[in-house]
Amino acid sequence: IHPVYANMERTVFDRMSSLAREHGAINLGQGFPDGPPPQELIEAAGRALRDRSNQYPPGAGLQELREAICGYYARRQGLTLAPEQAIVTSGATEALAAALFTLVSPGDEVILFQPAYDAYAPLVRRAGGAPVSIALSPPQFRYPAEALAAAVTPKTRVLVLNDPLNPAGTVASHEELAAIARTCAEHDLVAISDEVWEEVRFDGTAHRSLMTFPGMAERTVKIGSAGKIFGLTGWKIGWMIAEGLLATALSRAHQFLTFASAVPLQWAVAEGLSLPGAVLEGQRAGWGAGRERLKTGLAQAGFEVLPNAATWFLTVDLAASGIALPDRAFSERAVVEAGVATVPVSAFYQGENVPEHLVRLCFTKPDEVLDEAAGRLARFR
Ligand code: PMP
Ligand code: GLN
Repeated sequence: IHPVYANMERTVFDRMSSLAREHGAINLGQGFPDGPPPQELIEAAGRALRDRSNQYPPGAGLQELREAICGYYARRQGLTLAPEQAIVTSGATEALAAALFTLVSPGDEVILFQPAYDAYAPLVRRAGGAPVSIALSPPQFRYPAEALAAAVTPKTRVLVLNDPLNPAGTVASHEELAAIARTCAEHDLVAISDEVWEEVRFDGTAHRSLMTFPGMAERTVKIGSAGKIFGLTGWKIGWMIAEGLLATALSRAHQFLTFASAVPLQWAVAEGLSLPGAVLEGQRAGWGAGRERLKTGLAQAGFEVLPNAATWFLTVDLAASGIALPDRAFSERAVVEAGVATVPVSAFYQGENVPEHLVRLCFTKPDEVLDEAAGRLARFR
């Protein structure tokens, strides 16, 4: 057994979801919406299952989906991409693995920002690399330019950015992205830009990819996920976008991870990405209403909620809410005693100085579920 997996715990998401099932708790832990997904996609998937081939599609993805990804990014983000630049993967998780396995060799250093999505560091290590983490401090989670400059060594090859940021729900400023881009260009780093939350923004600003900054188009792997864009997390259709030889190398990594991804779902996502923007705006408005509802419910229950601009998550500051329990203990007790599953934010950190006063709650649930959860937490605290 490779040392990375020898003593590894189950992911916090899987663990909290099974605890929620076991205790019949409301699951605000793992991030997924409970509402009905866009019906257009469900019907498109049904049609594809019935009427189209269910055999292997081209490894890098259906041409129709690769074209739809380009059209979607042209309309939503003003990007000019060619279909060969988009490689379809089984979720963003596979894209992260393919990108890190393509770019990281033993001994290489990879810059991560903490809190970091839990898959990043183990994948870096499995590739033989060493994660070098830069801490973003709550509650603002700003990107410290000096710490970034200091983290680069002659061994640094890759930087992983997650914008918008899970679990914090914050968004990098233009200046922060520009500084990250300058560092990458200056030190010849490749950026893996995990932008799965690009559609889930509530701050009224347009998403801007790291890829669009000077010198970045040729050194960025942009990662996206239909799971997040359409709230269909179980479909596991994602993609990576890159140029030239980098795109070719990524497709080689992908071909020996999964080769190809579920073809009826690829057809459906291609249709979904071609729908009018109003469908996405409507979905976002629904999620935004849940965000307000849970924020209000938690505030009435006496919880301090950190500012949130994006993602499906709110963060509660336990310490500021007068709760002395560390986050893991709070989450473990709340799922059993209150019947509400949450995610301890310390699960997104490694090493020292880990904040233990924050828990994450997913708000993409029906009003009555959010109200019931806030009520249960109010009685529990
Ligand atoms: N990256 C981030 C930052 C995420 O939040 C998630 C899922 N929550 C993923 C990657 C994985 O996405 P997928 O489900 O498409 O594999
Ligand atoms: N990314 C989802 C979250 O942050 C969980 C994904 C998973 O369970 N692997 O909740």
